[in-house]
Amino acid sequence: MPKTRKASLEFTSQSLSDTSSKNFGTRLQTANARNSRLNKEVSPYFPTEGEVDESIARQTLTEAAVINSSSKKTVKTNVSITQKSTKPPTNWEEVYQSIKEYRKTLVAPVDVMGCERLAEEPSKEITPQTSRFQSLVALMLSSQTKDQVTAAAIHELRQKLSGGLNLKSVLQADEEYLDQCISKVGFHRKKAKYMKQVAEICQDKYSGDIPNTVEELMKLPGVGPKMAYLCMNSAWKQNEGIGVDVHVHRITNRLGWCKTEKAGPEGTRQALESWLPRNLWQEINPMLVGFGQTTCLPRMPKCTECPVKDKCPSSGKKS
Ligand code: SF4
Repeated sequence: MPKTRKASLEFTSQSLSDTSSKNFGTRLQTANARNSRLNKEVSPYFPTEGEVDESIARQTLTEAAVINSSSKKTVKTNVSITQKSTKPPTNWEEVYQSIKEYRKTLVAPVDVMGCERLAEEPSKEITPQTSRFQSLVALMLSSQTKDQVTAAAIHELRQKLSGGLNLKSVLQADEEYLDQCISKVGFHRKKAKYMKQVAEICQDKYSGDIPNTVEELMKLPGVGPKMAYLCMNSAWKQNEGIGVDVHVHRITNRLGWCKTEKAGPEGTRQALESWLPRNLWQEINPMLVGFGQTTCLPRMPKCTECPVKDKCPSSGKKS
């Protein structure tokens, strides 16, 4: 593994393992050890801390609109919940299984720092409501931001807010202070503002908890379809739909599983849900996100190393 990349992982482990994030630090250490053992290259994905991935920055207009607009109408207009039944691609099961097996041989950032891993588990100190609130905040911060930058921002909030990261501490904090804590994430000013607004809405309308439906989650400022579905999955443990981000959108189009490049991630979600068995809706996101972080990169995908290069219609293309 190239030195700089290893250093990036170790830095994150060091910074996060000496605090309340002990489980997270342990997972990172295990991942480092496993990675080293397998002698796999974790990532061309690791950037300079705070850098926003170009591929993420080029995210679809749908998500950018969610971040940049406080108009809830914008979100609603972009989301249609209708589905047409589509015939599954002929060899999808074989391809899916090959990628799934391949993913077991390497550790991607999403495996150790993905949003669903950043919330503290409910315990004596952490209520289920706080755990769910942390899940939602992690997802809100993750938009247009790399996993390790999001993880560091959540760590910062846990350390710097009085009493840790919870609804009460966000309500008590100034927006400027929240902004300072998350200053490395993309669109941090907007996100600090939305965090405050979301905390107030959760307090006033949901008795201090987060909404428990996709529709209600999407009414929150700064929360779009991808976040809502992933939040239902990670915070409420409910399988309501596929969380389609830039990786899932790009890779499924490259594989020919859908033709929704122009329709964006929301079109991809609907297309996939029309044929992909429901029991795979939750696992496909981390599986393909990790695959996209390590192998099927946004630019110059590593097709020669890819387990499905002989079946992929986009094999050998540069973007
Ligand atoms: S062959 Fe290339 S484009 Fe196709 S899935 Fe593999 S890495 Fe991606």
